[in-house]
Amino acid sequence: MEREHLIKPVLDHYYPTIEYGKGVFLYDDQGKAYLDASSGAVTVSIGHGAQEIIDAMLEQANKVSFVYRSQFTSEPAEKLAKKLSDLAPGHDYWAFFVNSGSEATETAMKVAIQHWQEKGRLGKNRVISRRMSYHGITMGALSMSGHVLRRRRFIPLLEDFPVVVPPYCYRCPLNKTYPECKLACADDLDTAIKRIGAEHIAAFIAEPIIGAAGGAVVPPEGYYKKIKEICERHEILFIADEVMTGIARTGAMFGMEHFDVEPDLMALGKGMSAGYTPMAAALVKDHVMEPILQGSKSIMSGHTYSANPQSAAVSLAVLDYIDKHQLVLAAEEKGSYLLARLRQMAEQIEMIGDVRGIGLLLAMEFVSDRSNKLTFPPGLGVTSRVIERAFQKGLLVYPAAGGVDGAGDAIIVAPPLTITEEEIDLLVSMLEETVREVMQEVTG
Ligand code: PLP
Repeated sequence: MEREHLIKPVLDHYYPTIEYGKGVFLYDDQGKAYLDASSGAVTVSIGHGAQEIIDAMLEQANKVSFVYRSQFTSEPAEKLAKKLSDLAPGHDYWAFFVNSGSEATETAMKVAIQHWQEKGRLGKNRVISRRMSYHGITMGALSMSGHVLRRRRFIPLLEDFPVVVPPYCYRCPLNKTYPECKLACADDLDTAIKRIGAEHIAAFIAEPIIGAAGGAVVPPEGYYKKIKEICERHEILFIADEVMTGIARTGAMFGMEHFDVEPDLMALGKGMSAGYTPMAAALVKDHVMEPILQGSKSIMSGHTYSANPQSAAVSLAVLDYIDKHQLVLAAEEKGSYLLARLRQMAEQIEMIGDVRGIGLLLAMEFVSDRSNKLTFPPGLGVTSRVIERAFQKGLLVYPAAGGVDGAGDAIIVAPPLTITEEEIDLLVSMLEETVREVMQEVTG
């Protein structure tokens, strides 16, 4: 084997070289096409190769690609901050631009802590998150993540932040049923706050719809209203991690819109620049920024590439594209169609235990016995088998840690919002063939 230099996530997997992408397809250097039903990492929401974005990139590059944020501001960064504030639930947000979702959640965490420091409440420096959550791979973001597999190696280095149960009705961690449960999963936050003491807690962070750590898990009606009430009662800030759900993915511009709740801070990434350049943001509500502006004047964070004008110009172009092509509506309509098709598929295939999600953030969870929702043994690697087999056929789907605390198998199906019905039909037929073959392989 030739000596390699680029570190890959899995070293014994064959990584084809992609030459170009167009719409929902990627093409490798052997001419093989891949239907990108995962939008990469739930990122390329407007599809590959959109000319408008390439034009906007070139236009900005012809002006200036980089200014240092401690010396200058730029028109695209200013415009983007205003646009996001106008779009976000409740408006009146300040934006701090970073380069990845992990930096966005970590920035939101730091801003929440700084908010309380400026108010003289120095002890409020813990963040509560949920089991079955993923907020990023850097140490602060990983400390807030309840993703068992991704934390494992670094546990001694992570902050021991408290976690509460997720709103995972398919396998309720409290063994209850909605609505008789009266949202006991939300009450778990109240219990945790009382146990730890609100004077030690800066914020609660949650993904509006659980992504990689559960597979498009949508909370039951009333959950976030209750969560917000608990946070307000205890003077704890609510951070919505919209890295996966944000920017039209779920058939709303932000995932929280489905629940009619305004967060105090938001983290954005992925769909913000739809993968055309790295771009992410922490959005901070006016009332959270206020003591910071009055005290230290700004937040204690920053990266060399923060508020990069090139990426800001791309993000603005992506938002324009979403508006012009009505992709929020498309996500809702195409999502309903795809969800119905996946549910039809589930009726035929025993191994599919649950199909769920909103808009074009959908998932299926696999079980070895549908009647009692028994998971497959972890060693069987059902998720990996589905991903690999689909890959061989030229279909890309995204792995999720299904089951409680990642003990099961699931995949996320989240194609670009520009996907057509014919392309959805092709996606479904390739996926059906894949899942049938894997079921044959693992159940005999
Ligand atoms: N938060 C959520 C909800 C995510 O899904 C992810 C990535 O999958 C992150 C944060 C981390 O984002 P990034 O991989 O860009 O650092």
